[in-house]
Amino acid sequence: MAANSGRFLKINLSSGETVTESVPEQVATDFVGGRGYGIRYLYEELAPNIDPLGEDNKLLLLNGPLAGTSAQAVSRWMVCTKSPLTGAFARSVCGADFGAWLKFAGYDFIVVEGKAEKPVYIHLTREECKVQDAGEIWGKDTKDTQDWLKQRHGNNTRIACIGPAGERLVKYAAIVSGRRTAGRCGTGAVMGSKNLKAIAITAQRNVQIHDPETYNQLVKEQVNLIRNSKGFQNHKEWGTTRTQDLTNNIGIYPVRNFRYGQQTGYEKITGAKYRTLRTGEFGCYSCPARCGKAHLVQTGPYTGAYSEGPEYESIWAFTGTIDNTSIEATIAADQLCDDLGLDTISTGNCIGFAYELYEKGILTKADTDGLALMYGDHAPMIDLVKKIAMREGIGDLLAEGSMRAAASIGKGAEAYAIHVKGLELPAYEPRGAKTQGYNYATASIGASHCYGYSGQDVFGAIEPRPSDRFAEEENADLVVYNQDNTAWKETGIICTFSSGWGWVPQLYGRMLAAVRGIDKLVDNDHLLRVGERIINLERAFNVREGFGRKQDTLPKRMLTEPLHTGEAPGEGQIVRNQDKFLDRYYQIRGWTKEGIPSPSKLNELDLGYVPSGMTRNSNK
Ligand code: SF4
Repeated sequence: MAANSGRFLKINLSSGETVTESVPEQVATDFVGGRGYGIRYLYEELAPNIDPLGEDNKLLLLNGPLAGTSAQAVSRWMVCTKSPLTGAFARSVCGADFGAWLKFAGYDFIVVEGKAEKPVYIHLTREECKVQDAGEIWGKDTKDTQDWLKQRHGNNTRIACIGPAGERLVKYAAIVSGRRTAGRCGTGAVMGSKNLKAIAITAQRNVQIHDPETYNQLVKEQVNLIRNSKGFQNHKEWGTTRTQDLTNNIGIYPVRNFRYGQQTGYEKITGAKYRTLRTGEFGCYSCPARCGKAHLVQTGPYTGAYSEGPEYESIWAFTGTIDNTSIEATIAADQLCDDLGLDTISTGNCIGFAYELYEKGILTKADTDGLALMYGDHAPMIDLVKKIAMREGIGDLLAEGSMRAAASIGKGAEAYAIHVKGLELPAYEPRGAKTQGYNYATASIGASHCYGYSGQDVFGAIEPRPSDRFAEEENADLVVYNQDNTAWKETGIICTFSSGWGWVPQLYGRMLAAVRGIDKLVDNDHLLRVGERIINLERAFNVREGFGRKQDTLPKRMLTEPLHTGEAPGEGQIVRNQDKFLDRYYQIRGWTKEGIPSPSKLNELDLGYVPSGMTRNSNK
């Protein structure tokens, strides 16, 4: 491999062995990096049907080919593994500096295998990798853990760690770096299952670029395009702290466990209101947007609560879910999730689920440790966040995720568990944004807004064409387009926001080629094929785990109950044609009626090593 860096590190916590290996050039060409390497490696290396929280699962932390360079918004990183929440392929993206530091240490990714006998952390430098005792930090929250490791290894250290939730194997525990999280799919539980508290990297800035002169020129072009982009200026000012203004206005802000699309009193939680509590900004490595907005509560019961957030999803997770309009409570809940190491989306969704079960009488005070889960009352929500992270009382049940919790509770609770494949839905109502909803239904990781975000439905984007957001099978092509495009951008790992700032795709391929010295990467058609290849291999992984058409479904509520949107458009909307949508979607993808990639599609994408007679191998 010509440059930057072409190597990965395997660390086996059972044996203590570490091995550095090279990425073959064919893999670098066909999968590029980031999510591409993640699925390629996991498909090859993970045996089917292993326990996600067992010794056989592997945890991959990956950066993209441009990480650590002067290019903007390309140093995010991600975690890939088999999810304990869904049992499917998992990818979870994170920000801050860790991805750049991983590159400075000389790696495109690290693979953590096995399980340590007692709590450990990994300390990585360019010269060596040591597995060290974590007895002193096991039990600490993510802030104290990072402070402790920085004190021990110096300020040039960046850390990815888990909190008490990951240690207790909460199924949606996050991995936290700085105050950013790889939140989705329970990657923190996989880390906890390996007795791994943290990975700390101490390194100096150091990247190798195949053609530095060309690359520097391309970065200048990128900076110019970004600075002049209206989208960039807006995102720099607000981050996502006012997306709720828009989604309430168009009736897609999920309220009371996805019964309503507009929150009564939403003028109390607008971006402008959050702005009054803003105390600072922070961002990821080499990104001028600094879109993280910090907030401090100055009065009331949550005085002193401080969060480097909440951003849109977390605002929703602690407002719409329980019909709460206290901004201060959302800041307190967000801080707790970051400290304890929880995914805010699944946490808020599971709490909204519990509130509805309480309303319906399926849960009573005898089940909730005496908490009265009344809509609008945020105090029990704060208690529940802590209980979930510590697996105390009702928290132990909710820590399993809404799908498993519903199965344990019985009494019809399944009807109120709002998830796809076990991953809880985020902050866009499928009945009012159906391209987004069908993205949830078909995403390999479950209900992720980022897997194939529908800017057409939400922001009126016109690429590749405008959408009617209430249309169904007619928009199957858009779901495919959004998912494939996200997949190749996540080889980057290009920030999803920056991909709308005018520099993607015209510069990305040229930058890749300048960094790597692989000319084929310039070709946009090649990158599009890489995206499609990634989606197909992820699907093959899931099929091998027993997933198929039956799991590509939105929650029953979306298929049977009309949406209520108050003053916003979309009143009475329902998802009517899921079957027709799936037929059309599979047809465009070249998959069978059961949703299995066909032999001809696999061959077309050079995935000949995937068994062509592949059938689902369990009775899910
Ligand atoms: S736009 Fe925000 S999330 Fe994206 S790279 Fe920049 S600071 Fe990070």
